[in-house]
Amino acid sequence: MRVVVDLDLCEGNARCVKAAPEVFALNDHDGVDLLMTEVPESLREKVLDAERKCPRCAIKLEG
Ligand code: SF4
Repeated sequence: MRVVVDLDLCEGNARCVKAAPEVFALNDHDGVDLLMTEVPESLREKVLDAERKCPRCAIKLEG
């Protein structure tokens, strides 16, 4: 599974960071950095949880 964040939508509230800190990290520009783009199976549920919790629908999952 591949993960992408639309930084134009992201408001930096860090809900994704709390849900999946292995994948998302806050940056200094009120947005998030991806620590990886290809998500291993072991982190799949956490990233799905992050997607569900993003109030801006900024997280897109492919595959
Ligand atoms: S949950 Fe969504 S809006 Fe909040 S920091 Fe993560 S990607 Fe950005």
